[in-house]
Amino acid sequence: MAKSLVFLDFDGVICNSVLECLYSATIAYYCKYLKVQFTSLPLSFKEGFIRVRPFIRTGEDYVVLADLVARGVEIHTQEDFDRELQSHPQDRLKLFRDLFYQTRRELIAHDFIHWMRLNPLYPGVKEPLQEVAQDPDTYILSTKVSDLIHKILLYYGIDWPEDRILYSHTVSKKEIIGSILTERGGVEARFLDDQLDHLRVAMEDSRISPFLAGWGYVKREWIEQREIPVLSIADFRALVFKRPLPSALPFPRGTDTLAGK
Ligand SMILES: [Mg+2]
Repeated sequence: MAKSLVFLDFDGVICNSVLECLYSATIAYYCKYLKVQFTSLPLSFKEGFIRVRPFIRTGEDYVVLADLVARGVEIHTQEDFDRELQSHPQDRLKLFRDLFYQTRRELIAHDFIHWMRLNPLYPGVKEPLQEVAQDPDTYILSTKVSDLIHKILLYYGIDWPEDRILYSHTVSKKEIIGSILTERGGVEARFLDDQLDHLRVAMEDSRISPFLAGWGYVKREWIEQREIPVLSIADFRALVFKRPLPSALPFPRGTDTLAGK
C-alpha cells in the first residue's frame, strides 16, 4: 500500500499556547527590551495580541507582536504584519528573539508547573496523539523548538519521540515535508496547520494535502476561503488516522511537479 505521512503543526493545532506567548513576550518587551517596570497592562493588550497572533509565521516573532500592540499599530492583513516585521533591522529582530527565549527559559526554570499550565492542549487531541505517538509515519512540524514541544507533550502524558518533532527554522515546511516524503518513499502527506501561508506554500507540492485547523489562530476570512479545506477539532482523529474527511471542502491540486520528479 502506498505510504502516506501526516504532519501536524503544534501551536494553534495541538497546543493553545497564546497566553504563554503573551506572558513571555510582554515581559521580554517591557522589562528586558524597554527596561521599564510595569505593574499593569491595558486590558485591551491581550485582545490586541490575540487578534494579531494569526499572522505570526515563526515561533520567534512574539516580541514584534508585543511591540506592535504596545505602539497601537493597526494590523489587518498578513502583508501589514510582514511589512512591520521587515521594518525592523536584523540586529533588533535577533535581540527580540534572544530576549524572548531568555524570558521563557527563566519562566520555565522558575515555575515549571505554571509555565506548563499556560500551554494547555486543545480538548480532544490528547487521546488520538497518544494512540499515534509511536507511529513512524506521523510527525509534528513546528517553528517551536523540538525539546520544548517534547516536554509539553510529556507533561500532558504523551510520550512522543523527539526525532519525530521537526523544527522548521530556516527551511520552509513545504521543503521539509517534501524531503521526508522523498526520503521515506511516501507518495502523499496530510499537512494540518493554522497558518494559511504555510499551507498555501506547501500545496505547491502536489503530494501535499493541506488542511486548515479552524480551531487555531485563524482569521475569519481564512475560514471563508475556498482554496484549502477547513477542519473542525472533531475531525482531528480522522485526520491523524488518515481516514476520509467528509466535512472537508474539495480544493484544487498544487501545480509544482518538480517535487515529484
Ligand atoms: Mg500554528
